[in-house]
Amino acid sequence: MTARLIDGTAVARRVREEVGRGVQELVSAGGTAPGLATVLVGDDPASEVYVRNKRRLSVEAGMQDLHRHLPGDVDQETAAALIDELAADPAVSGILLQLPTPKHLDSDALVARIPAEKDVDGLTTANAGLLAQGRPGLRPCTPAGVMTLLEEYDVPLPGAEAVVVGRSVLVGKPMAQLLLAENATVTVCHSRTRDLAEVCRRADVLVVAAGIPGIVGADAVKPGATVIDVGIHRGENGLRGDVEFDDVVEVAGAITPVPGGVGPMTIAMLLANTLTAARAQQGRGD
Ligand code: NAP
Repeated sequence: MTARLIDGTAVARRVREEVGRGVQELVSAGGTAPGLATVLVGDDPASEVYVRNKRRLSVEAGMQDLHRHLPGDVDQETAAALIDELAADPAVSGILLQLPTPKHLDSDALVARIPAEKDVDGLTTANAGLLAQGRPGLRPCTPAGVMTLLEEYDVPLPGAEAVVVGRSVLVGKPMAQLLLAENATVTVCHSRTRDLAEVCRRADVLVVAAGIPGIVGADAVKPGATVIDVGIHRGENGLRGDVEFDDVVEVAGAITPVPGGVGPMTIAMLLANTLTAARAQQGRGD
């Protein structure tokens, strides 16, 4: 059996086009175009690329680019003051602090200053709490993107066995909560899990976000399962994920490639969150 490829590039493009239409509707109804304030601290090349792409695609969707750049040696107070300024600025619909920040900064404390309604990365404790309680809020972009892929490809979730590998605040934990909200039976694996492959083999839907190249091989996949690979690793032969793609594609029913799977969805969901935030702030939420 060869798995169906889940085309994140195509789905992300559709989501971004939908967001672009939503922005036009907001503006033609008398509202203001959403403003996205990406905040980059320092000059980490990978972070620079991520932020550049977020800015480019937000502008393509008709949003205002309100990017701010701080020097790598900025102190905590100055960085905090910038977040406070953006929090108070009505032109700013969403604030995205690009992580990781330089080590001398307390990034948790900076994220905590972002008002929940402008937290388009969905990382504040307020939004995490709303998600845990199953109440509306801004959701973390990568797991939200995975949910959109599962929906687009009609992967049934109610009653399904879902296994999430990883329990980070950014990916694993919110991923598990989102799957639970769709009535999957969710198991979360982490570095202390005994016999990872055995647990993964239970999964109808397997989401891998461990940050370890090739940690999931064909022996860890139930025939016909849907496998979502969140991992991104830059190697000599380009990008690869946490899943042994060439082997798993022969066992799974559907699988995301790396690149072209989950990656493009993250920015698309950031734009969707920014539009949602702008609508809510302008009293035009659903
Ligand atoms: P992270 O914060 O390093 O978390 C990794 C998780 O994997 C931890 O919970 C860890 O368990 C678990 N883990 C480590 N070794 C394991 C093992 N041997 N068996 C089972 N679980 C294990 O990473 P992250 O931020 O969640 O990101 C995960 C991956 O996704 C990375 O490759 C990252 O680059 C990628 N990513 C991609 C996107 C995207 O847009 N596609 C977005 C975000 C992240 P413990 O909690 O016990 O340590």
